[in-house]
Amino acid sequence: MTTASGFADLGLSAAVQKALSRIGYEQPSPIQAASIPHILAGKDILGTAQTGTGKTAAFALPTLSRINLKNTNPQVLVLAPTRELAIQVAEAFQNYASDLKGFHVLPIYGGSSMQNQLRMLKRGVQVIVGTPGRVMDHMRRGTLKLDNLQTVVLDEADEMLRMGFIDDINWILEHKPETCQVALFSATMPGPIRKIASTYLKDPQVVKIEAETATVERISQRYWKAVGTPKLDALTRILEVENFDGVIIFVRTKTLTVELSDKLEARGHSAAAINGDLSQQLRERTIEQLKKGKIDILVATDVAARGIDVSRVSHVINYDIPYDTEAYVHRIGRTGRAGRDGNAILFVAPRERRMLRAIEQATRQVITPMELPSREQVQERRIDQFKDELDKALSADLAQFNGIVSQFSQERDADAEQIAAALLYLIQQDKPLILPEGGKSERPRRDESIGFEDRPPREKKERHPRPDFDGEAIAMERFRIAVGHDHQVKPGDIVGAIANEADLSSAYIGRIKLHDEYSTVDLPAGMPKEVQNLLKGVRVRNHPLQLELEGPADDFVPGAPKPRRPSRGGPSKHQRSRSDNGDSRRRHSRNKPSGGPKPRS
Ligand code: AMP
Repeated sequence: MTTASGFADLGLSAAVQKALSRIGYEQPSPIQAASIPHILAGKDILGTAQTGTGKTAAFALPTLSRINLKNTNPQVLVLAPTRELAIQVAEAFQNYASDLKGFHVLPIYGGSSMQNQLRMLKRGVQVIVGTPGRVMDHMRRGTLKLDNLQTVVLDEADEMLRMGFIDDINWILEHKPETCQVALFSATMPGPIRKIASTYLKDPQVVKIEAETATVERISQRYWKAVGTPKLDALTRILEVENFDGVIIFVRTKTLTVELSDKLEARGHSAAAINGDLSQQLRERTIEQLKKGKIDILVATDVAARGIDVSRVSHVINYDIPYDTEAYVHRIGRTGRAGRDGNAILFVAPRERRMLRAIEQATRQVITPMELPSREQVQERRIDQFKDELDKALSADLAQFNGIVSQFSQERDADAEQIAAALLYLIQQDKPLILPEGGKSERPRRDESIGFEDRPPREKKERHPRPDFDGEAIAMERFRIAVGHDHQVKPGDIVGAIANEADLSSAYIGRIKLHDEYSTVDLPAGMPKEVQNLLKGVRVRNHPLQLELEGPADDFVPGAPKPRRPSRGGPSKHQRSRSDNGDSRRRHSRNKPSGGPKPRS
């Protein structure tokens, strides 16, 4: 097995490096390269990093490298704003620790069985990833002891602030061992987060990846919101209608370069993979093939595509978003060469929206949104291509075939047009020219078959569109909850409880009005019964919410397609706004002079 060579100099443990090469990471992302050595050295870190920059590995890899597996007491505590992120981070730890024997990580959050958590804690875990409320709960009960703690990580600190966890975080940090290292990661640094940093971080190393500005000319840039359709399907559709010559598709891992190029080959494209595992010679040979038109599509990692200069590359597709703006500029610079025009397409998952804005700022260009090609467009394109092929075939030597057709025509009494149609029917069966109707919608749907063979496995995807992307407004309903001023409840407590328990993005939680004995909260209309029932029993400051529907709210949450019925609640927190502290509420109220939901401090 090859090693993840780009990580070799960072000082990570051998077991962690082995896992990385198996996973297929080639090089550390900038935030990883900047943070890992400091965290390994036991220093405190103040990192400005958002989702998608690789920040999870930036703290998981070095802390894992320092763990003492013989000690089964918690050594690393990660605080995360939501249940979903806690699970995701715990999964990442598990993945990176797959070569660490006897390693255990436990996600702890409200709503999951306390019994289970207690059992796991008793058995012994080295890493805890939890939401602040539940972590505090365990600490108070004495079921979570931090005596052996080496590192506390605050992940998405600004989100935790936004969700009302600031007091809990302070309480937890006050109870950590004096010598414990603290790593604080946040996309933004609002005042209260800076205060935490100045109170609890000792001489912190400040890690910030500065975006350099760069201009990219002659390249038309578009992005597709990667929601609702698996990325592979989207890519296939795009490749059907785009007028491309050569294409470079960028992905994050070596493994994916191979997987994706195999899948494209299976769909009839001539594609090849290049990644850091290939020898220089093989890499050059593959690039030469692209140059000569023997292959049209190259699926590459950043490392492998460095410096490629092939003028027929008409398109760069960022299948996985790059870690930073510099990588983006470098990637798209592979097209638009030798005075030709280039096209860059970027797939942006809802949670990666910040990176999109950062790229626009750095390149000082607007990246325009694109729709996936519709069924009609794909069909039209297939028919056009077929006509072109037919045209070419007309100039071939057809004498012998003419004979067969006229013989057939006489024998079966069929006219030439009918025979031609029948031949066409036969030829197009693998790649149908007439695509099945997909209902009213012009836009391709996730389950709409358009005749792609070898349907891909479902990709892990965002479950719901996020509210920040433009779309229709969603109607809200007003609910009454049985907690208010009398119970010392703050709006943040309510947002935190509902967001966590109903797995609902906090950005979808509308206006909250506190009264003495009760309060009202606006939530997206049409909440499934089972979620309402679940929320009835949720406790805030130890009082059950007893949520009850009052009626329609006069507010709308603008800018969001109506969320579909989720498994447990509304749109997942995973897609919630990751903008500055409290701004989603401010944004909502902007459209509503009557006073929408108020920002919380
Ligand atoms: P995060 O910012 O932690 O949410 O990570 C974003 C994504 O990047 C995750 O899917 C990681 O698996 C992936 N990732 C993180 N570091 C690397 C790396 N060095 N090489 C390739 N992929 C990575």
